[in-house]
Amino acid sequence: MPPKNITNTTELMQVKKYLLYTLTSLLAGCLPELDIPPTNSRTADLMPETIHLDLGNPTNATVNASQSQNYLIVREQYALSYNREKGTANWVAWYLDRAWIGDVARQDDFRADTALPGVWYRVDDDDYVNSGFNRGHLCPSGDRTNTPVDNSATFLMTNIIPQAPDNNQGPWRDFEEYTRDLVTGENDNEVYVYSGVYGRGGEGSDGTKETIAEGNVVVPTNLWKVVIVLPQGEDDLNRIDENTRIIAIDIPNEQGIRSADWQDYRVSVDAIEANAEVDFLADLSETLQETLESRVDTQ
Ligand code: MN
Ligand code: MN
Repeated sequence: MPPKNITNTTELMQVKKYLLYTLTSLLAGCLPELDIPPTNSRTADLMPETIHLDLGNPTNATVNASQSQNYLIVREQYALSYNREKGTANWVAWYLDRAWIGDVARQDDFRADTALPGVWYRVDDDDYVNSGFNRGHLCPSGDRTNTPVDNSATFLMTNIIPQAPDNNQGPWRDFEEYTRDLVTGENDNEVYVYSGVYGRGGEGSDGTKETIAEGNVVVPTNLWKVVIVLPQGEDDLNRIDENTRIIAIDIPNEQGIRSADWQDYRVSVDAIEANAEVDFLADLSETLQETLESRVDTQ
């Protein structure tokens, strides 16, 4: 049966699929000769609709376990591409506006993600103990404080990466706060955030390591973020133009940077695309991508 309350796009699609199925069954019964084109439900299942990917899926991740280095997990709170060989996400994407921000306390319930295919190693909270690295959030706890359930979703270990304490508690955190300021108070923006990792080998409080958790988790050399800022409005992808502000940062996963300014780590989107092997805003024209992605934010 279709859901009773249509509250989001996924449910709406389910209703559409249900109606299409019903119609198809009825027609098939009455008019066996009618040639009904096959519905593309397989594609929809492999790449479910989500607001978090409204501006694009940077690696065309899909819900296909044979693509173990680019496996898509979509949840209400964010979407991510998981890399089984790294034991972390490649990137996490989330939409943020003031509606996601409330006063719910940190749930702190770090735990393995059971959304991963059953035979895959599931990174657990214990895997980071005494590693010299923080359990660093890609989608921050502070961006999901509207309900306990939404906050708790950020503590799933697929949203966590081994992060140098000085990176996590320095410029990375400052930029998280800056991003929230863009959508709250007088700054009535909505933003789309992509955050991810690349490279192998980072410096924590216990020295440089390529992996932790007995090799199950790769320590990245770099952490990056791309934030697309829009004033509140409709039809977001089509409102992006050459004046749209995009902030991209790339911060090394190392100690000694706790008091550094996040502004000093600004880079072009192109630089992140090259280093992390991703493509942002692929649905925009090449010309517009070139303009936006070669620029480095200076505001
Ligand atoms: Mn953090
Ligand atoms: Mn691009």
